[in-house]
Amino acid sequence: MQVSGQKIVVLGTGGTIAGKAATAGDNIGYAAAQVGVEQLLHAVPGLKAAAGGDLLAEQIAQLDSKDMEFSVWSALAKRCASALADPGVRGLVITHGTDTLEETAWFLRSVLDARKPVVLTCAMRPATALTPDGPQNLLDAVAVATTVGAQGVVVVAAGVVHGAQRVQKVHPYRVDAFNSGDAGPLGWVEEGAVRLAQNWPSALSGQAQPAIEKIVNCARWPRVEIVMSYAGATGALVNSLVRDGVQGIVVAATGNGAIHHALESALLRAQAAGVKVVRSTRCPQGQVLPKPGDALPDSRGLSPVKARISLMLELLP
Ligand code: ASP
Repeated sequence: MQVSGQKIVVLGTGGTIAGKAATAGDNIGYAAAQVGVEQLLHAVPGLKAAAGGDLLAEQIAQLDSKDMEFSVWSALAKRCASALADPGVRGLVITHGTDTLEETAWFLRSVLDARKPVVLTCAMRPATALTPDGPQNLLDAVAVATTVGAQGVVVVAAGVVHGAQRVQKVHPYRVDAFNSGDAGPLGWVEEGAVRLAQNWPSALSGQAQPAIEKIVNCARWPRVEIVMSYAGATGALVNSLVRDGVQGIVVAATGNGAIHHALESALLRAQAAGVKVVRSTRCPQGQVLPKPGDALPDSRGLSPVKARISLMLELLP
């Protein structure tokens, strides 16, 4: 069920959803982040009616999300927090590139007390495509943002609603490019109605305001890098990161958090030298199951890129 009467704020950040190609049949040779968010909304028939009230567009950034920067995250988090605090706002939609969508979703999930829906959406095909997926995704995102009881940071793409914690881009081309692995989707959007499979994500009460203040006030984000364990791995990369002043390292380990012995020795030396080290798995599904006596803490189910965000936030001064 949807209700009307309050504003939906749509924050544009760029991505393929705002992309343009020279020819309509070209779904890969395009430039992302060319069309303004206002124009994107105008191009979707019925969007304003679906919003049931005011639809307010704001351009926060205009970039290919492969180039996402901490300054954009900071501006986005600040604007989301102020919109969430506005009693006239019913929900937020964020247009975003698909490449780092899951990172922005997890970042926002970690810093916002989202008692209203914050819905990230995107497209795999540019706005100029013969059959672009962006317009339907926008309609679906607005449907989620206006659904009674909806809350939390979620992702909507190809008719599927995903939670921020588990969602991952799993395909470089397919329109249905996102998956939540073992956790499964939160639900689906069908003809403007949301069918839920799980509860909406819970809000972050209490931790949000201090997190936003830290982000806005920090001069430089903590340096956290990701290394991977693979056949023939060495400790060379880790040693050089430590020499270079890295503050945290996430290791994308094999299987259940196993690490090549040479890389593991370097990581243990880094940890002993004061670098925060977290073990995630390079497996796309499941999570590292900790064992008693593990020398390196695990990421508690977060993928390497999301574990990196959590570690950066933990290390913020
Ligand atoms: N490179 C684009 C981006 O992440 C890909 C997309 O949006 O699908 O902005």
